[in-house]
Amino acid sequence: MAVVRVRSVRLMLPGRGTALCAGTTRAGRSCCNLEVEGFGFCLHHVPDDELADAEQVVGFERCRTRFGQPDACRFIALSYVDSPPVCKVHLSGFARTTEAIAFIRGQALDRFSQLRLVR
Ligand SMILES: [Zn+2]
Ligand SMILES: [Zn+2]
Repeated sequence: MAVVRVRSVRLMLPGRGTALCAGTTRAGRSCCNLEVEGFGFCLHHVPDDELADAEQVVGFERCRTRFGQPDACRFIALSYVDSPPVCKVHLSGFARTTEAIAFIRGQALDRFSQLRLVR
């Protein structure tokens, strides 16, 4: 069964280390997320050249908007969007609508086929 990954669920995902992220937030405070295991940073703050590896570990992706630039987006990308990964803020209105509808339809079909299997 498909699992919807939302931001509030990410703490339960695998690949999370025990140390705090060494990054700082835009407000200049220490990041209080836990590191991706072995990277020393959470997925928001992991260096760009290690990002793909860190994504493999945790199983979700970071938005690639302005990737590699100081003001790059650090939100977690939507799990149902094809590459390049993009967060809900940077998904264009058109894509947001069509992708979301396709996703919800897929969910409904999944559920429907399971119901039929059970009964
Ligand atoms: Zn962090
Ligand atoms: Zn974004």
